[in-house]
Amino acid sequence: MGGNPTAGREIREDTIVPVGEPWSGVIKAGEILRLIDLEGQQAIDFLCYNEHDSADRYNAANTIKLNGNIYLGKDAGLWSVKAHKLMTVVEDTCGSHDTIYGCCSVAVDDVRFGENNGKGCQGNFELELSKHGLNEKDVAANINFFMYVPVESSGALGISPGLSKAGDYVSLLANQDVLAVLSNCPERLNNAAGGEPTPVQIQIYSGQT
Ligand SMILES: [Zn+2]
Repeated sequence: MGGNPTAGREIREDTIVPVGEPWSGVIKAGEILRLIDLEGQQAIDFLCYNEHDSADRYNAANTIKLNGNIYLGKDAGLWSVKAHKLMTVVEDTCGSHDTIYGCCSVAVDDVRFGENNGKGCQGNFELELSKHGLNEKDVAANINFFMYVPVESSGALGISPGLSKAGDYVSLLANQDVLAVLSNCPERLNNAAGGEPTPVQIQIYSGQT
């Protein structure tokens, strides 16, 4: 896709997601969802589902194998369990997004840090999915937009401070009608958000007419 993917489109939803809060919405085929890291270095945990067949959902392993890369960037697909492309990254001013580290939760933070943030992205996903008839069994291995998880040749990995700058954004074209669910990560106990989580902005651009 050449040029500006959002040119000529109207913004039909424009929402600020506060620190530690979830959000969800249906993005129709041909629409674009833009995620904006307003202050930089903020992780957005993200899942998506075929709106008409929730079993056909974002699948991390298929996404990694069909993109041939563990990081997401421009032109990468978000592939489903049944190998359908649910969404495509059509703009990315950050350059690297994590597919392997999964989300934070109160339970895993208690194990790795001996304390927690009082909430986590796992719980946020469960809360938001419950609005759409889904539940904890529907939380899959998620994308972390704007989170940087370098993997060494030994396989060692860990979170490094995020690379995103204030105003960086990623735009996702819906290839199918999708339910998008995200958590603006509340994690203060590691580097994912530089120790200080910040708000993010969500915009949905209507389909081109
Ligand atoms: Zn989190």
